[in-house]
Amino acid sequence: MCLFCKIVRREVPAEVILEDDEVLAFKDVRPVAPSHALVIPKKHITSIHDAQTEDGALVGRMMLAAQEVAEKLGLGRSGYRLVINTGQDAGQSVLHLHVHVLGGRTLAWPPG
Ligand code: AMP
Repeated sequence: MCLFCKIVRREVPAEVILEDDEVLAFKDVRPVAPSHALVIPKKHITSIHDAQTEDGALVGRMMLAAQEVAEKLGLGRSGYRLVINTGQDAGQSVLHLHVHVLGGRTLAWPPG
């Protein structure tokens, strides 16, 4: 069973920031920036590469939820980065679609 599906079902604890019928946002357990949250769809989608045409509204909702999370974390003025690691070369380690919300420091570009 997928780790993030377990978080959705509250079988694994998480520090929830935002929730609605479609999405859940929670703090990353191993933050790589002063503010680091994850936004996931409650529906299991393995990666953005596996999203289907009918998931378009859900993916859009994830983006707006990420914006809300950034605002809640106080990043609206300073800025932040949204990241979707996809597949092996990008280092995706949890096979359930998630958007990283990163901020609270200057973020280097390009990423490694
Ligand atoms: P990625 O490497 O892009 O797949 O990102 C997966 C993220 O999930 C990593 O940043 C992990 O720190 C994070 N993570 C793994 N397990 C948990 C957990 N139980 N609660 C919160 N975040 C987690």
